[in-house]
Amino acid sequence: MPAYDRNNIFARILRGELPSKKVYEDEFVLAFHDIYPKASVHVLVIPKGEYVSITDFSTSAPPDMIAGFWRAVVKIAKDLGVEDGYRIASHVGAKGGQIVFHFHVHIIGGNRT
Ligand code: AMP
Repeated sequence: MPAYDRNNIFARILRGELPSKKVYEDEFVLAFHDIYPKASVHVLVIPKGEYVSITDFSTSAPPDMIAGFWRAVVKIAKDLGVEDGYRIASHVGAKGGQIVFHFHVHIIGGNRT
């Protein structure tokens, strides 16, 4: 696993250095629209902490952060109106297609674009 790079795109969005189309924020997460949506609903949820991937997150994050993160994911899907059917995806490592090395999940629902 690579070391966490504090200048990755999502870290910069979290610090407010880059813009995003925010859909939700609380003490644990920030959620915003994917810049290249693959469906009519395509939102990214990122934790407010320095975690490279789900591997890092699940082993290093405190339990309240892990619970808060997943509860937020489900709440956001509901708020987006896709509760009855959506996908959650998270790419792990370059071999798994991960491009941004700040842990995130994709919420993908609605019609494919
Ligand atoms: P992955 O690491 O494979 O989940 O890919 C990163 C995802 O982040 C891709 O779906 C990109 O379209 C998305 N992305 C990259 N830069 C931005 C950005 N500035 N704002 C929103 N989404 C982004």
